[in-house]
Amino acid sequence: MKQPSAVCDLLVTGGTFITMDRNFSIHEEGCMAIQNGRILRIGRLEDFSDISAQETLDARGKVILPGFVNTHTHIAMAAFRGAVEDVPNRLADYIFPMERNLVTPDLVYKASLFCLCEMALSGTTTFADMYYFEDEVAKAVKKAGLRALLGETVLGSQAPDAPEPYGGLRYARDFIQAWRSDSLVHPMIAPHAPYTVDSGHLLAVREVAEDLDVPIMMHIAETEPEHRTFSASHGSVMRYLDATGFLSKRLIGVHMIYLDDFDIELAAKSGMSVAHVPVSNAKAGRPICPAWRMQKKGIRVGLATDGPLSGNLMDLQTTVSFFPKLQKMRENRRDIVSAKDALRTATLGGAEALGMDTDIGSLEAGKCADFIVINPDSFTMQPIYDLYAAIVYAMRPDTIESIFVQGKKIAANRHMTTLDEAEVLADMKAIAANCKNYIRSITPKNPAV
Ligand SMILES: [Zn+2]
Repeated sequence: MKQPSAVCDLLVTGGTFITMDRNFSIHEEGCMAIQNGRILRIGRLEDFSDISAQETLDARGKVILPGFVNTHTHIAMAAFRGAVEDVPNRLADYIFPMERNLVTPDLVYKASLFCLCEMALSGTTTFADMYYFEDEVAKAVKKAGLRALLGETVLGSQAPDAPEPYGGLRYARDFIQAWRSDSLVHPMIAPHAPYTVDSGHLLAVREVAEDLDVPIMMHIAETEPEHRTFSASHGSVMRYLDATGFLSKRLIGVHMIYLDDFDIELAAKSGMSVAHVPVSNAKAGRPICPAWRMQKKGIRVGLATDGPLSGNLMDLQTTVSFFPKLQKMRENRRDIVSAKDALRTATLGGAEALGMDTDIGSLEAGKCADFIVINPDSFTMQPIYDLYAAIVYAMRPDTIESIFVQGKKIAANRHMTTLDEAEVLADMKAIAANCKNYIRSITPKNPAV
């Protein structure tokens, strides 16, 4: 036997490695060596006799997968989950006023920590977020140890952290400068939507993004009134954004529901990417986004939960299971969006949509060691004839045992190792106790049906 010639930080041995690389390689009885937070080598266990490690994780009988990439969230809204459900015009009539009254830096920080536990324990290692006081979200992300693309929301009306309209622009610039060289938190800028940010300010956002070289995230073609307004003035929301000069490769469009074939062509031509949020859209009673059609045109599409007020559950597993079902329903075809394609969309597809695929999204030498370890011996996953189908359609978050980001263990035995879960939970209960009276006062007694 060869003597080990190299020493790495961590060796994950045995187990089945689903790499999600471009060839969809799977290594049964595999091995992965990690050094300085990156994958040094991945392949068959028998090819690793020349490597020893400081620490070894015996993963025999387990399944190892790249962490999920959740491409659009508002995690601090965990503080309001379950409030004012099932009402029409929820955003303008209830959520905006509620946020102006209740959102503080302390709430954003503590609610973010709370939501990060749910996301990490259900296998998400990278997510994109837009909200207010995004510095507090960034601090929570650093403490929990996840990877994130974070953007301060820019809004043309008063916001919780900006008394003047468009105050978010200044906050966003400072935020980007403060976090641009961090290894886990990547900044972006996030105008809210075409109907809350005027065309002049959209161009100002684009200027900031180009100047500081960051992505832009915006809700696009999400609501029916937005669709009606821009259809009357420009033919469609996407035609309006194209005419404004806002579409570009650095734009990540969220929702993208009300699109015709020409709009999809515009999106493809611009090089923009898409965060697809099927569960949140369904709950809001909206049509099904043409996600599969956009993928066919070569548009980078990732999956997302949206905020905890919109989709409630923040585990991407619920979303990855819902995604193919809704597309099959929309196209009236069973043979589209295979389980393999769905899992790709939840991992490498999400990384591509966020412009992070050179670093994350698949288990390949040179990429960051962001991965999850699954115990497939569960009453939902067994028997396994097709690993992709078992993960997409039958896996539950409680089958995920441990989570690593940048080679560092952030959860083990289904509990966070970076946070005090009891303290995080107690903080959320205290927040809810403070919010309860206000939320009760705005909740309609007899919602119209
Ligand atoms: Zn959203």
